[in-house]
Amino acid sequence: MQVEEARKGRATPEMEAVARDEGLPLKFVLRGVARGRIVILSNPKRKSRVFKGIGEGLRVKINANVGSSPDYVRVREEVRKARIAEEYGADTVMDLSIGGDLNRIRRRIIDATRIPIGTVPIYQAGIEAAKKRGSIVDMDSDDIFNTIRRHAEDGVDFVTVHCGVTRGVVEELRGVKRLLGVVSRGGAFLAAWIIKTGRENPLYEEFDYLLEIAREYDLTLSLGDGMRPGAIGDASDILQFRELFELGKLVKRAREKAVQVMVEGPGHLPLDQVEWNVKIEKTVCDGAPFYVLGPIVTDIAPGYDHIVGAIGGAVAALAGADFLCYVTPSEHLCLPSPDDVREGVIAARIAAHVADLAKGVDRKRDIEMGEARGNLNWNKQFELALYPKRARELRRKRPPSIDLRTCSMCSKLCAIKFLAEFLRGET
Ligand code: SF4
Repeated sequence: MQVEEARKGRATPEMEAVARDEGLPLKFVLRGVARGRIVILSNPKRKSRVFKGIGEGLRVKINANVGSSPDYVRVREEVRKARIAEEYGADTVMDLSIGGDLNRIRRRIIDATRIPIGTVPIYQAGIEAAKKRGSIVDMDSDDIFNTIRRHAEDGVDFVTVHCGVTRGVVEELRGVKRLLGVVSRGGAFLAAWIIKTGRENPLYEEFDYLLEIAREYDLTLSLGDGMRPGAIGDASDILQFRELFELGKLVKRAREKAVQVMVEGPGHLPLDQVEWNVKIEKTVCDGAPFYVLGPIVTDIAPGYDHIVGAIGGAVAALAGADFLCYVTPSEHLCLPSPDDVREGVIAARIAAHVADLAKGVDRKRDIEMGEARGNLNWNKQFELALYPKRARELRRKRPPSIDLRTCSMCSKLCAIKFLAEFLRGET
């Protein structure tokens, strides 16, 4: 148990790995874990893996969602997407599969990757209940908790659990006018279940049992935002914050039981609301790691939402968000392809770096890139690039023909070369 060990002042191999990876003193990581400001995704059931720390003072991390849908059940493609995500720099992958043999897909993805894996077990609980009893809302609390346990047993490192979708929040939903009611799949399952049964959300009512399972596997809980705004017109409304305040209380309870916990956040937000949304989460949830979904900062760029998400993600991360869920060009349109996954990861990776850079982390590489550009040292530029292959490809596609030291943008009128020659007195 990471938290228990940290509170006893004992470093685990996972904490040591995170400290090494981040280039930070072990004490810093240990203290962050003890306080719940840092989580380390590390289910001991997972055999081959890389440990990732998420939270205060660490580099911003990014997640890539993969997973089948009822329309597209291609196990090999989902595995491929997970591998592409890892190759292009995702820190974690979430398997959000809802079509086909869910156990098989999850296990294949776990086996095919080394980075931490997250899931949303309520999907499988609902889908299996529908198969057995006719409807998603026929699931019971055993379905939910047994599925969580099954995922943890397979080695899943973190799970999204929509504990804040309480009966009170759902009651409020009836009275609030939203453009897009509930866009969270898990949130919708649970809200419908509450409306049908009139009972309290089992993930909330039996939160202590959930904590027991999490303790058993050192499973990190990612408290889902079932009421996240799904449109700019719904941003920062009462439902979003009503749920967040519930999550703040649950963070405290999880910490009392030494369970690692992070909090998920919006969703769709105009850029001017991003910073204070992050600050509110950090305040209400006592600095718990904040995992933002995008955020999506405009609704009118379908096809380019990976760019939209990267803009929102960079601003959120600069304000203190710790973990960015990528967005792909397919968002709001269709199930992402492997190419979309690659584009989404690249955009989120850049957003995370941009925020880290502004916070003073990893500046050396950017400085060196400036030097390499000043020296027209192309090989060094490729070496320093986040994605060298793409940079090389573009240069090769339209090479300079007059002066090979320049590029074909300005060619013999290259500003860098031109002034440098004057400064050196060569002209
Ligand atoms: S040719 Fe123009 S764009 Fe290319 S390196 Fe020189 S100044 Fe930069």
